[in-house]
Amino acid sequence: MKIYISVDMEGATGIVSPLHVRAEAVNEYAFGCTMQYHDLKAVVEGALEAGATEILVNDSHARMINIDVSQLPKEVRLISGTPKALGMIEGVQGCDGAFFIAYHAMAGTPEAVLDHTVSGSSVFNVTLNGHNVGETGLNAAVCAEHHIPVALVSGDAAACREALALLGSNLITCAVKEGRSNSCATLLPPSVSFSLLKEAAKKAVASIQSKKAPVMKIATPYSLEITFKYSRQCDEVSYVPGVIRVDGRTVRMEGSTMEEMRHWMGIATSLAGSIKP
Ligand SMILES: [Zn+2]
Repeated sequence: MKIYISVDMEGATGIVSPLHVRAEAVNEYAFGCTMQYHDLKAVVEGALEAGATEILVNDSHARMINIDVSQLPKEVRLISGTPKALGMIEGVQGCDGAFFIAYHAMAGTPEAVLDHTVSGSSVFNVTLNGHNVGETGLNAAVCAEHHIPVALVSGDAAACREALALLGSNLITCAVKEGRSNSCATLLPPSVSFSLLKEAAKKAVASIQSKKAPVMKIATPYSLEITFKYSRQCDEVSYVPGVIRVDGRTVRMEGSTMEEMRHWMGIATSLAGSIKP
């Protein structure tokens, strides 16, 4: 059984501040990397003990070079670096089930640690086929296109609530902290969260084996709308051929494959992020 693990950083044990996830803040970021690896190690151990034979990890945070490959067990392969066509969900094709680890809630979620959707500097909101989605929804939709279940989501309590609302009660979730604001949370110590994550990973592997792990329900064709923070960001993206301008801050892209939608999302947000309002 081949497990895919997309590992972000904002939802890891102990992380509450933007400083923990930005490489410029050297000391705080070192703690961020340590805790991202801590949560990854817990679910890798759990998955291997439960019968996974191959694990493909995708470093899914910011520059995507946060994980030290020298620490990983031999069953793991690591996708490191950027750009990559599918970003946080690169390489998922052909896997038997996916884990989203250290994830965060969508932009605008209350009591959610470091909530945002793809780009904190440019994206106000995203809808997919008319429903608000965050990174969990966007990435689960790519999995769905390949009939791949999402078996486990970990992060803060808000990220877990969002994932359960999206994927249903057969999803295994593991909350490692409870947000009190965007950058404050009540934390579990690593000695507690490690066991919870490891046990959750074991249950998730079992849910894939028993075919209970959920595949996101979504119909084609796809309609993806991005509302930017500033009209100037929207102006620039609206000039890209094929993009439909909806209003001052919102553009829409329509398509028949989720991979195409995810490519466009990456291009649109990096273009918008390069615009200084
Ligand atoms: Zn991130």
